[in-house]
Amino acid sequence: MAKVLVVGSINMDLVVRVPHSPSPGETVLGGDFETFPGGKGANQAVAAARMGGEVTMVGRVGGDNFGDTLIQGLIEDNIKTTYVIKDSETPTGIAMIAVAANGENMIVVASGANYKVSEVDVTNAREIMRDTDLLLLQLECPMEAVMAAIDLAKAYDIPVVLNPAPAQPLSQTLLANVDILTPNETELMMLAGEYTVDKAIEKVLSWGTKNLVVTLGANGARVVTEGVDRHIPAHEVTAVDTTAAGDAFNGALAVAYAEGKPLLEAVDYGMAAGALAATHRGAQPSLPTRDAVENLIKSSHV
Ligand code: ADP
Repeated sequence: MAKVLVVGSINMDLVVRVPHSPSPGETVLGGDFETFPGGKGANQAVAAARMGGEVTMVGRVGGDNFGDTLIQGLIEDNIKTTYVIKDSETPTGIAMIAVAANGENMIVVASGANYKVSEVDVTNAREIMRDTDLLLLQLECPMEAVMAAIDLAKAYDIPVVLNPAPAQPLSQTLLANVDILTPNETELMMLAGEYTVDKAIEKVLSWGTKNLVVTLGANGARVVTEGVDRHIPAHEVTAVDTTAAGDAFNGALAVAYAEGKPLLEAVDYGMAAGALAATHRGAQPSLPTRDAVENLIKSSHV
């Protein structure tokens, strides 16, 4: 089994459906309040575990009930949580989400414990890092922790997959040590500080990122690596909710690559997982199993 280490965020999503988005000062009566486990780190860890990866997560939750529920959920998905710290001084990270009838979302995030993930947390997990096949990262934890994880992975010669979300500018030092960078187009332009996708690609490659996979939603993905610049069309599915399609993509790509599959084949796994996630509502409930992913890949090669 391929071993994947995820250093990232763990959130509880607090969701209310509303007839329309409230204006400032307005109170809107919504439907029933629901909670869903989320956070890009946890979503990608679950995606990787459902793909058959042996997944360990490094992160933080608060000392509240949400924290307990989230850790329990990760365990139920066979994710090792030894390095998930319960921080009794900080609340668990949450996202308050109002979903309007027209599909528009209003989201407020309180990072809580996620913003206390530190260099020390990462260093404390070095034994597991030494014994892992791949490091998978996003940008919902402090940059200090992300940098520390990348440095450690490089010291142990472990490939790094970075999903640079949410969008923000990134340094050349960081990008030079990333083996596979997986932005969408907005994230790509933002991280490179460029206004066109092509200019951003050129810049990121000149900075030393080895492989770039730009995800394009229903339009598929563009893979740019040494001597290759290829657009791969998406699997055709009936999309109902694309939440977590990107997380499914990253988790699946990470496991396939950690197993030693070539980049383009790993991207195929990611794209199939992303397409399947788009066919179901919600984040973690929509993340597919390996069987489902492999069936979709087989059926589209016939
Ligand atoms: P993000 O949510 O990070 O912007 P994308 O929406 O680009 O990520 O989705 C990641 C991948 O999932 C895409 O590259 C694509 O292969 C697949 N995917 C996403 N939405 C769809 C869709 N509507 N139909 C088919 N595949 C999809």
